[in-house]
Amino acid sequence: MCGVIGICGEQEVVNELIAGLSALQHRGQDAAGIITCSKRFNIKKGNGLVHNVFKSKNVARLQGKLGIGHVRYPTVGGGDLVDAQPFFLNSPLGIAMAHNGNVTNFWELKEELFKKNFRHINSNCDAEAILNVFADELSKQDLAKFGPETVFKTVKGVYRRVKGSYATLALIPDRGLVAFRDPHGIKPLVFGKKGNNYMFASESVALDILGYEFIRDLKPGEAVYIEEREQFFKEGRRVYERQLVKEQHRPCIFEWVYFARPDSVMDGISVYESRIRLGYELAPEVKKQKLKPDVVVPVPDTARPAATALARRLDVPLSEGLIKNRYIGRTFIMPGQAARERSVRQKLNPIRSEIRDKKVLLVDDSIVRGTTSREIINLIRGAGAKEVYFAVSAPPLKFPCVYGIDMQTRSEFIARDRQPDKIAREINADALIYQTLDGLVKAVDPKHKFCTACFTGTYPTEVPERFFKEIERERLCVKGMHLGCES
Ligand code: SF4
Repeated sequence: MCGVIGICGEQEVVNELIAGLSALQHRGQDAAGIITCSKRFNIKKGNGLVHNVFKSKNVARLQGKLGIGHVRYPTVGGGDLVDAQPFFLNSPLGIAMAHNGNVTNFWELKEELFKKNFRHINSNCDAEAILNVFADELSKQDLAKFGPETVFKTVKGVYRRVKGSYATLALIPDRGLVAFRDPHGIKPLVFGKKGNNYMFASESVALDILGYEFIRDLKPGEAVYIEEREQFFKEGRRVYERQLVKEQHRPCIFEWVYFARPDSVMDGISVYESRIRLGYELAPEVKKQKLKPDVVVPVPDTARPAATALARRLDVPLSEGLIKNRYIGRTFIMPGQAARERSVRQKLNPIRSEIRDKKVLLVDDSIVRGTTSREIINLIRGAGAKEVYFAVSAPPLKFPCVYGIDMQTRSEFIARDRQPDKIAREINADALIYQTLDGLVKAVDPKHKFCTACFTGTYPTEVPERFFKEIERERLCVKGMHLGCES
């Protein structure tokens, strides 16, 4: 998971890019980067949070009315600065690019680009592969007649060759800004306007905080081109929109469960309202187990709306019995079990008076490997709880995400080969309540067809077996050193 932003402005855009990236910081705390365009590309990338990467001296240097930015989520094997986005190249035109997603035929593309097109991919970042395919497709067009058709033919070529998920922004100096969403629209991308300025971003919250009016979400397989030619400025910028391929829309359902900010609206569905409904859908599952909790406690922060709704529906008091240290920014890659336990302990602290001698129903958004859940439950037991039940607002995670979410390999999911009663024993819970798949879809939007592959194993795109093997190989290199995406 990453965040992208792109702005075509009438003034310098760097401050808006930084503010927008800060609003998307929850989508990636590992690295941040911006490329703006004045007479040249101006670039700043660095590891860490947005406010640590962009200092006043960088801001002064990042001149231009056109720019794109990126925040990166930590992934196994992809943590070097050399892999940080955006990327750029200079042939056949200057092109800078950033994307959110994951290219599932990355290794095949890397080989093909080298053998057939003599293009060398220097990083382990798939944005560089998309960028090189884009450049290769662009080089097949008549650039003397550059216009919207040039852009659309180029993006269509990308759709033909690049598999997986990719919400992408491409900046071409003196031509404009191009945004395109992968053929299944797995990753989100919204589009907004403020006067003559245009913005694309991973989530609507970035538009809100910068005062842009939301226009719409990009459709799956759609490209939008904002033309940046000075001669057109007086009459307003020209915007060209075209859906280039028509595959079924399969947005990632986990955005509504965990990734997105609750104040975002994606593909017309409010994240906050979905999380509230997830809590309502959990209530009958708790009742089926005839549990009588004294208090409902959310594991902060993502699960709070679901816990609130669940408590309301069960008519049980809600309590903030766990407090999160907000200044521990990212899920660290930590060697060994002891370090992981310390990490949970540093992140969360119980309020004993809310827990002591009570039957506590904890609510979290997901269980991946189970280690974090067990640590949280032990924390609550240590604070004097009589019994601890664990409710999860998502169904059991069993399959790796191939679209850009760093989860476990196939063998590491606790739910992969265990039933809930066994998982409950392993995480030291007196009862475990999972969301059902039907409940999940009903809570988010039953009219939509989503990607639910991490629960079902049915991927909306073809995934080469080599891809799973490469993920597993990378994980083996760092085995025991990563906390995955557990909260
Ligand atoms: S596999 Fe899961 S996390 Fe990945 S895109 Fe699909 S729903 Fe989202």
